[in-house]
Amino acid sequence: MRRRRFLDLAASKPGVYFGLVIILAGFLAAVSYFIDRYDGFIEKRSTFLGLNMREGFVALSDLQRINLVVLEALRTNEMSRELAIELDRATDFLYVRADAFRRGVVETTETENARKILVLLEDVIGILDAARADRYSNLSGLSARLIEITDETRRLLFVFLDDQRRTQERLLRLQTEQLQRKTYFLTGVLFFLTLVAGSALLLLLREGRLRQHVEEAERRVQFLAYYDSLTTLPNRIKFQDHVSAHLDSGRHGALAFLDLDNFKGINDSLGHAAGDCVLSSVARVLTQSAEKFGGVAARIAGDEFALFFPYADREKLAFLADEILENMKTPVEFESEQIPVGLSIGIATSDVVSRRGCPNFEELSRAADFCLYQSKSAGRGRFTIFDADLNERYAARRALLTELSGAIERGEIRTWFQPKVRLGDEAVFGFEALCRWRRDGILVSPADFIPIAESSGSIIELDLHVMRQACELLAHWNRKSNIPYTISVNLSALHFRSRAIVNSIEEVLTRSGLAPECLTLEITETVELMDWDFVGRIFSEIRALGCRISIDDFGAGYSSLAYLRAIQADELKIDRSLVREIETSAEARQVLSSVVDLAHSLNLRVIVEGVETEEQTDVLLGLGCKYGQGYLFGKPLPAQRALARHAPSAGLKSAS
Ligand code: C2E
Ligand code: CA
Ligand code: CA
Repeated sequence: MRRRRFLDLAASKPGVYFGLVIILAGFLAAVSYFIDRYDGFIEKRSTFLGLNMREGFVALSDLQRINLVVLEALRTNEMSRELAIELDRATDFLYVRADAFRRGVVETTETENARKILVLLEDVIGILDAARADRYSNLSGLSARLIEITDETRRLLFVFLDDQRRTQERLLRLQTEQLQRKTYFLTGVLFFLTLVAGSALLLLLREGRLRQHVEEAERRVQFLAYYDSLTTLPNRIKFQDHVSAHLDSGRHGALAFLDLDNFKGINDSLGHAAGDCVLSSVARVLTQSAEKFGGVAARIAGDEFALFFPYADREKLAFLADEILENMKTPVEFESEQIPVGLSIGIATSDVVSRRGCPNFEELSRAADFCLYQSKSAGRGRFTIFDADLNERYAARRALLTELSGAIERGEIRTWFQPKVRLGDEAVFGFEALCRWRRDGILVSPADFIPIAESSGSIIELDLHVMRQACELLAHWNRKSNIPYTISVNLSALHFRSRAIVNSIEEVLTRSGLAPECLTLEITETVELMDWDFVGRIFSEIRALGCRISIDDFGAGYSSLAYLRAIQADELKIDRSLVREIETSAEARQVLSSVVDLAHSLNLRVIVEGVETEEQTDVLLGLGCKYGQGYLFGKPLPAQRALARHAPSAGLKSAS
């Protein structure tokens, strides 16, 4: 890895730049070496010159010595033995000196003067040799000749020495200039190299940093692909990979799905920052539990979490679920606010889900989801572990789901009508369409299959089917009776994720010919109606068609007053649960009374559901309620029968 990074960097632009600097530095070193060699040559020459000068002067002193000896002999008029020896010694010295001088001169300067000096010195040696052979018979002649030669030698030597000095000076100048040039050159090159190397280094550093940024960004993207940025927990993809890898290897395990019970409420009333705080806090609790029990935690959707454990020990899992629910009892603190957080848990173990080998992720998660649904419908804030009994119900539910998809085509879904009345005179003014499934000759309650249809998405098709049937029947009836009865159709919250529902309603109205004001759409507030702004816009479009919007099951648990104010509706249906005790409980009457007042203040028509007794009707009338629906006025019946019984229309009545 490190090696690859280095190679990458070396191949980059600054890397090549840096390489060039190194080559240039090598070239400079070579140039510097040759300059040094040339300088060495100059130095050698100047050393020779120095030597020649010294040899010249010594030769002159030797000549002088010879002259002195000869003059001494001339003074005594005799070349004594001692003087002769002295003369010989001086001559020998001169000989050696002349020889050294010659070698020096030949090797270096070899000027005319030097050669002349050499000839003169050699002459002296020759003259002395001849005089010795002549036993120094002509001392005065010898002396005169020697003085003459000495003078000439001195003269020539001075000229020679002068030449030498000048040469020496020239060389010195040359040397100085060379040194200066070399210094300039070296300084220049050094400056240039420093500049180039500096900028290359800077570029290299920048390139390195840039690469670091890119790598960091890549790591971040990688992280976001597999982890949730808010809680840093693995996301659905990562979690599924982990669980699948475990199950595929044939080992058993347990999957838990966890869902917050009141998350939407927290988000709506306290804001998204509070929601994020709650999610982070739940993630912490789950991470701790997962670590303690040897599993992994993940966030798989908005307020949905999951846990996986590499074992199927039900006792241990029950203990774990208990502990998580216990921990969740501590409210989450957010800006000095204490937020209570509820959680429902569904757990499925692979050994129960499939007795033949290990189930795959899909199978196990469907079972865990089923358990979560059980926990929620049993009242939330609890856990359910998949067992043999649940397995049976689960299988039945799955069979129902499979059959439901073809039920509409097979004509098994029928529309029933229940009358809606004015409480004062019990006159029927409209109906609510309620579906029934005749499955193998047995009627299945919507309470049993509507949630399944919602979970599979087939509710969309089912609702439209009921709406079509109901509208066509009622339009036909209204034309015959000449009375504008209204029809209320239930719509699942799933319709309000797109605008398609508006077009569907328009199409049904056109096809059936039903007056739009006769169609009311009942919507129950659920978790699915998350985006109120969007839902509000769809409501407006539906109302623009001329239809009415009714808020169903108000007071059944989900309903919030904020919701009522945020969206525009025409009708409020008060849930059965608020009516049940109004005869006996003053408190129930009080609650109902305030809801009715609120609805009226918002210009909503109030209709009370589940009216079963005359006494209830009296109380409701006393509270100002004008409309009702319930077994007291008529149970749901097959549409045609309901119309025949409750809607006066001579022609059709006889036909039914
Ligand atoms: P809902 O919309 O609240 O419908 C009223 C339910 O209360 C009906 O149950 C009705 O039979 C029942 N009911 C009416 N009066 C009384 C009464 O006096 N006492 C009692 N105890 N019950 C009364 P049902 O027909 O079983 O429908 C259950 C739920 O299924 C409906 O509740 C509605 O939410 C849903 N549903 C029914 N048909 C459809 C449909 O076509 N589409 C959708 N999305 N949901 C539907
Ligand atoms: Ca309804
Ligand atoms: Ca209702």
